[in-house]
Amino acid sequence: MNNPSRTGQTENLLTCLGCNLLCDDLELSGGIAELESNLKQICPRGADWLRRSQEPIEIPARLLEHQILEAITWLQAAHAPLWIIDHQQSLAASQSIMATAEKSRGILVLPASQIAEGANRAASHVGQVVCSLGDVRSRADTIILWGCDPANSHPRLIERLGHHHDYQGTGSNRSLQWIVVGDVSPSSIQQLTASGQTVRSFPWDKDLTFSKLQLLRSMILPKNQQVAVSSADASVAELAELMRSTRYGCLFFGEAFCQPEMAASATESLQRLVIELNDGRAFHSQYLANHGDFGMGSVVCTWQTGYAGAISFQQGQIDHDGNRFSVERLLREQSTDCLVLVGDHALEHIPQESIAQMAAQPVIWFRSCSTECSFPQLVDIRVQRDGIDRRAVFHRLDQLTLPARAWNDSTLPDLTAVLDKIRNGLSR
Ligand code: SF4
Repeated sequence: MNNPSRTGQTENLLTCLGCNLLCDDLELSGGIAELESNLKQICPRGADWLRRSQEPIEIPARLLEHQILEAITWLQAAHAPLWIIDHQQSLAASQSIMATAEKSRGILVLPASQIAEGANRAASHVGQVVCSLGDVRSRADTIILWGCDPANSHPRLIERLGHHHDYQGTGSNRSLQWIVVGDVSPSSIQQLTASGQTVRSFPWDKDLTFSKLQLLRSMILPKNQQVAVSSADASVAELAELMRSTRYGCLFFGEAFCQPEMAASATESLQRLVIELNDGRAFHSQYLANHGDFGMGSVVCTWQTGYAGAISFQQGQIDHDGNRFSVERLLREQSTDCLVLVGDHALEHIPQESIAQMAAQPVIWFRSCSTECSFPQLVDIRVQRDGIDRRAVFHRLDQLTLPARAWNDSTLPDLTAVLDKIRNGLSR
């Protein structure tokens, strides 16, 4: 880690937003050429993120105006536009996306894995935050990895949480135990053991996640602590005891947490377990997305409409049916006549067959990087990478405050401003 960040001199440091860990190991003072030679200091995910963030792109104002007019024309002519949004949009952009999709009388879909959707729903139904990741970093005595792969999704998570340096001179001498549950990738376990951490393992099949969680909860609730335990449940009793003896803990979970069809009930049960653990302890749960990034789109959708995932504005009011408004179904039944893709990851979680069917329709794509795609009718609008407020600062795991400079240095137009112009140009 850089020493300047410890002393608060962060103005020359680049914040990596490749995942939630916000590493600041690179200095910007040497310019882009030096940055390129220093990228090997950080993980491959971070190097890729920084390369894309530093790409100098200028969009001529006239080209942007032309693209906005074209997008307005296509949306105005469309009877059933389908908006496909990725999960990396900020609060402001998500509100603008919702308003523009509504004015275009479109259907709005936020494709995600079932685990991610379950986690979002559970967080809004049950969730409450009791301690931050910063607290976890400073105080946790137990960290649980359940069906996730941090070595790939958040390459420095284990390093950051495992090596607790006493930056603030508090004399902390915390001992930390790591627990892996279910399907945790061998590379993550290897990263843990290579760093000398003690690891307790509960290799439960993900078919059993929900029943194990229910049993764990029954053992953790004080009134049930004397519950009789069969020998088959001995490992659950052991994990319950480890959780009970925790003061500060964190449970990270990912895509291999449970079977996708159990996502809604298992993530809700997990959230309830964390709340029950918080009776006398401080426990945090955190979903780790495979792609590392984070976003607020589905949270905004849930708060504004009550539904995560898929809604329709076609009847002039919100209509929700996750099956009827699935991307695959709408394309298969040819129920759309214009596609609006928002975000670099808009096509993630969409089957190849559906992507092939999109080529028959006009496509408007708001994204920060332009990769090859096979859409013959495409308005490709380059916008800043989104996901945070422009004035954002981050409060990192080690309580360091970092500005979101790397992100905000982009010369590309702001998505919210572009969408606002399009919405104002629509006459419905
Ligand atoms: S661990 Fe995450 S924040 Fe750190 S360098 Fe890698 S991608 Fe960037």
